[in-house]
Amino acid sequence: MSTTHLTDFDVAIVGLGPTGATLAALLGDMGQRVLVLDREADIYDLPRAVHLDDETMRVLNWVGIADDFQNNVIINKGMRFVDSEGNLLLDWPRPQEVTSNGWNASYRFHQPDLERALRSGLKKRENITILLAHEAEHVEDTGEMVRLSYRNKVDGSAHETTALYVVGCDGANSTIRRTIETPMESLGFNQRWLVVDVMLKHEMPELGDHTLQYCDRETPSTYCRNVGLRRRWEFALPDNETDEEASDLGNVWKRLSKWVTPENSLIERRAIYMFKSEVARDWVKGRLVIAGDAAHLTPPFMGQGLCAGIRDAANLAWKLWFSCQSDNGPTLLKSYETERKPNVTEYIRVAVQLGELINRMGSSGKAEAPQQMKSLQSELGEGLGDSDDPVRGTLFSQSVLSNGRRLDDEVGHQAVLVTSHPIDPSEAFPGLQIIDASGEPSMTEELAAIGAAAVLVRPDKRVLGVARSTEQTASLLQIGAQIFSSDRTLQHE
Ligand SMILES: Cc1cc2nc3c(=O)[nH]c(=O)nc-3n(C[C@H](O)[C@H](O)[C@H](O)COP(=O)(O)OP(=O)(O)OC[C@H]3O[C@@H](n4cnc5c(N)ncnc54)[C@H](O)[C@@H]3O)c2cc1C
Repeated sequence: MSTTHLTDFDVAIVGLGPTGATLAALLGDMGQRVLVLDREADIYDLPRAVHLDDETMRVLNWVGIADDFQNNVIINKGMRFVDSEGNLLLDWPRPQEVTSNGWNASYRFHQPDLERALRSGLKKRENITILLAHEAEHVEDTGEMVRLSYRNKVDGSAHETTALYVVGCDGANSTIRRTIETPMESLGFNQRWLVVDVMLKHEMPELGDHTLQYCDRETPSTYCRNVGLRRRWEFALPDNETDEEASDLGNVWKRLSKWVTPENSLIERRAIYMFKSEVARDWVKGRLVIAGDAAHLTPPFMGQGLCAGIRDAANLAWKLWFSCQSDNGPTLLKSYETERKPNVTEYIRVAVQLGELINRMGSSGKAEAPQQMKSLQSELGEGLGDSDDPVRGTLFSQSVLSNGRRLDDEVGHQAVLVTSHPIDPSEAFPGLQIIDASGEPSMTEELAAIGAAAVLVRPDKRVLGVARSTEQTASLLQIGAQIFSSDRTLQHE
């Protein structure tokens, strides 16, 4: 079909970190013309994420890298909070079984491995243009489109392009967030930590497989068991110690000496970070959107910053896709902000509480009975669908279908009606996939558990709405048609 494009790209993404790369892959698979800029020539190589969860892995599967990436992860056993004498204060065991998302609850990984896997996946998608060493400098939302100016950092040349939407996945110091002129609102935690990645020269099983949080007023610190021989230690820094003193190799070894020495290990890399807890007030302004660290920052005690960015990408991608083709943009994009913000805020609040625990607990000499902690349920804030329905917004389970395929692999990025009763084809809207649950025992079970005759599932596998009886299915489909049918005022290949 011949098409007339009003802009050079549908979506321009500023920042090729994990959030930008995931969003680009999803949009690419939805047929969008995507530009991604990153000001660095290569991936960021200082110590960052080491943990991801089942929901994140589910999204990585949508972009085609999860099966291979399993070779780069280990299944996480859990986290223990101990006082300075080793007494257990709080236990956060992680189930070892596959969850309803179809993946394990919690994995350990090395962020550069994930970023490399995401980037090599992007190279296979022809509708994605990646410009490394190109820095976004200025964006102007004209109302009809966005003009984006950027600079080639190698030869200094200046360029301009246009897109229907620009998404700032440009990290903690986001240029796009500055353009939106939205403040970061603090949730209270702000502390300087030294982070050290160590490669053991040989296995040291005595270090253990659990993450250990040392809750010690004097020296709050963290130990993480990572993939292979890599281990991570993190230390809160006292105010009277400068960054130079803290990162001095001799001083780093002194801090590590309780566990490892130069005889049995190598320091791979180290960095000092300010662990912050902040959420941007506005995530969408006209045709400008922010996601990932550009929109929220969490102290890493739950290992959820990158996971949150990938959740943003999952929520946002299909809404941008429909926004590029219909007049629904403002409603859909507003729902991205209202659905995601409470979700990420809840994770940050818990991370702040854990940070306070790590800082507050001195050794009392008498341990109280240890508490058990459970992982948060990832729930959406108000947005699309009826927020009074407790099932709306929950993740629809990842069934393995009778043909042996995972549900997600079968349905791709379309909306899906999972129904226990036949549907009149004239009631379905274009692009809707229909799955007859009667031939799928696990789905029949799930519908029965929800008390549903049919469930309408969004492209991000969250439930848009539930028909409690066969009669209600037609009205559920009408709600879906309003959201998922585009008027195709802008045609793209
Ligand atoms: C010590 C530590 C431990 C962590 N542990 C975990 C963990 O276990 N689990 C977890 O989920 N998260 C963890 N995180 C958080 C995680 O690393 C971040 O949340 C994640 O990297 C954010 O991804 P992002 O793509 O949003 O931003 P970033 O990774 O920061 O990427 C932003 C990109 O934008 C580019 N950019 C910026 N400005 C411009 C511009 N003007 N033009 C072009 N490009 C630009 C940058 O070069 C960069 O590549 C941890 C973080 C730290 C510091």
